[in-house]
Amino acid sequence: MSVLRILRLAVPTPLSKLFDYYPPADVDIVNCHPGQRFQVSFGRSKKMAVLIQLAAESDLPANKIKVADKQLDIKPILSAELLRLARWTSRYYQHPIGEVVQLMLPLALRSGEALQSRGESVWSLSNTGKEADLKRAPKQQQIVTALQSQPLSAGELNQRMSSWRTPMKLLREKGLVLETELPCLTVSQNAGKEQAKKANAEQQVAIDVVAEKLGHFVPFLLEGITGSGKTEVYLQLIEPVLKQAQQVLLLLPEISLTPQIVSRFERRFAVPIAVMHSGLNEGQRLCAWQMSATGEAKIVIGTRSAVFAPLKNLGLIIVDEEHDGSFKQQEGCRYHARDLAVVRASQTEVPILLGSATPSLESLKNALSGHYRHLFLKQRAAAARSPRIRMLDLRAQKPQQGLAAGMLHEMEKHLDNQGQVLLFLNRRGFAPVLFCQACGWMADCPRCDAHTTVHHRSGRLRCHHCGYERPKPQRCGQCGEDQLVALGQGTERIEQVLLARFPNRHVVRIDRDSTRRKGELEQKLASVKKGEADILIGTQMLAKGHHFPNVTLVGLLDIDQGLFSADFRAQEQLAQLLVQVAGRAGRGEKAGEVLIQTHQPDHPLLLQLIKEGYAAVAKTLLAERQLVGFPPFARLAIVRAEAVAETQALDFLQQVVDELQTWPFEQVQLLGPVPAPMERRLGRYRAQLLIKADQHKTVQPLLAALRPWLEANRLGRKVRWSLDIDPLDLL
Ligand code: ADP
Ligand code: ZN
Ligand code: ZN
Repeated sequence: MSVLRILRLAVPTPLSKLFDYYPPADVDIVNCHPGQRFQVSFGRSKKMAVLIQLAAESDLPANKIKVADKQLDIKPILSAELLRLARWTSRYYQHPIGEVVQLMLPLALRSGEALQSRGESVWSLSNTGKEADLKRAPKQQQIVTALQSQPLSAGELNQRMSSWRTPMKLLREKGLVLETELPCLTVSQNAGKEQAKKANAEQQVAIDVVAEKLGHFVPFLLEGITGSGKTEVYLQLIEPVLKQAQQVLLLLPEISLTPQIVSRFERRFAVPIAVMHSGLNEGQRLCAWQMSATGEAKIVIGTRSAVFAPLKNLGLIIVDEEHDGSFKQQEGCRYHARDLAVVRASQTEVPILLGSATPSLESLKNALSGHYRHLFLKQRAAAARSPRIRMLDLRAQKPQQGLAAGMLHEMEKHLDNQGQVLLFLNRRGFAPVLFCQACGWMADCPRCDAHTTVHHRSGRLRCHHCGYERPKPQRCGQCGEDQLVALGQGTERIEQVLLARFPNRHVVRIDRDSTRRKGELEQKLASVKKGEADILIGTQMLAKGHHFPNVTLVGLLDIDQGLFSADFRAQEQLAQLLVQVAGRAGRGEKAGEVLIQTHQPDHPLLLQLIKEGYAAVAKTLLAERQLVGFPPFARLAIVRAEAVAETQALDFLQQVVDELQTWPFEQVQLLGPVPAPMERRLGRYRAQLLIKADQHKTVQPLLAALRPWLEANRLGRKVRWSLDIDPLDLL
């Protein structure tokens, strides 16, 4: 019998393989278990690696195998369940397992730190501190004064003063201040006080059907119109899971939605809830990770990357707004969190509930074919009624600065009736183009094939693709005349127009520019909910999940672009966006109204959406996709490449095609290479090659062989390339 003696480690490098090492001299192989971390010498650096498997033999000659430096964990830090998910992710998305494993660890653990619980420190005054008189040390006195009313954490101290750490240390040494560590997750005092609502008949069916399948892998699609009470269904499903002492994983598309959802969950359940998203600091991230790994956090709520959360005792996965594109990671390992969530549910044998008012065509196809069980909520819960949708024909009434007369008229009506108005325009900035009326010149980004956007308040031109910016010029860059005009509308310009047109109304703009500072978005959303804001103008940040009960009119200012985009998902995404934005209207007691400004009031998609709703449009779009053989009726992968030299990316992809044509694969179509729709970005020329097949099974072996070939190709080291499996868009 062969004896295990080799560690096969996932090392964070862009090479898709495991690396063989001997155990450190002082560690017996019987004490080595998959999921432990090791420190190893790799090339000239030290790296933290995770043990994936043990082996008896290596392909390397014995004298080439190095000895690992150190074992970093006694108990495996990644469970067998997570390792299995890591292997699946690596294989499916053709991404090196060493990097996939990194996605599963908070930063502190990636760098090899020991796993130990770290709560937040708070400082408070001791009894002597309360009496202290420190006139000679003003900085210390400032701290003591600040602590008189309440204990403060580092974050709170940072807000009140700078460089407090040294004086704090002195105060501690004098015994005037005490430092204590809070447990990293706490349950707030009012948690669990709210009662469940009495479910309506449709909700009860959904709850019962899913609850019956706890302990088994069954995927469900919950298709429920906005405001139909999907979240209430989630809440009532969590109860039986908690009763069985299991954990629930809830994935959401947006950070901005988490506070709202978390507080709703806290009101219902008095259990520790871990939150995972990119807005956390490292301490909070580590805390959430650990509490979820130990099982102390009963509910784990997070965005995309939380699909990799360590869960000791998972009982149910819920993916809210499952159609949302932000579940797809667009760099590095390009995974789709919804799809991985389904894989995880199947590996762990728990049910998974995908919820949406506008399901993705992928999930709908799975529901129609019986792979997923399809549940419906067709009525709005509570008193709210569905909004009425109408179109404003821009050919008949030319808009003034982006707003048609009919829109202004309706706005006045709703405002006079104490309703709030939400205007949606998916373009931030003041205007998308700066144009010379004398010679036709437009201000372009020097690094991209794109115009720069005019930002009025900052007086700058910015490229929204690469971040390039410069001051807005006074004169034309070509002819030197001073006849420059800003063409078209962005949210910043509409805000100005509104301020001039409605001087007595409170206008709030919500887009990436107006919410850059921490807390700004929350504060603006709160002012809307409290009814302080009359008119909201914003980008798609407004479209998702927010509950504004007093909004009675929603206006869509410009949607025509989505009707004619070349991308195969554009119409699906437009239909979803329209329904989601429209869903912001009339969520309270008052009826809602939706007005769509368009030059295309006869467009079949718009007509069908208004008359028959999203489900009907989705069926039409599915039929079209089947006809042309695109997802979900086919599988796509894209090889993308970019290079500074003009044709290098195309040349490289042509080499890929030449190579692939010598490989014995049938039923795989190669489309391209072609230049990317926006060929130059950040000074690099970009190209892409589309690989298409009927099923993933058919392409999997090809992709698995392609990745090592790309890694080994000489030109491949000069161009930047990436593989995108199941790409969201072809842009
Ligand atoms: P969705 O998640 O589908 O948008 P929510 O769960 O947020 O819907 O429900 C919309 C509103 O209706 C919320 O204010 C919620 O409290 C209320 N609601 C949901 N279910 C019920 C119910 N069964 N009875 C009364 N109110 C309900
Ligand atoms: Zn000019
Ligand atoms: Zn640019």
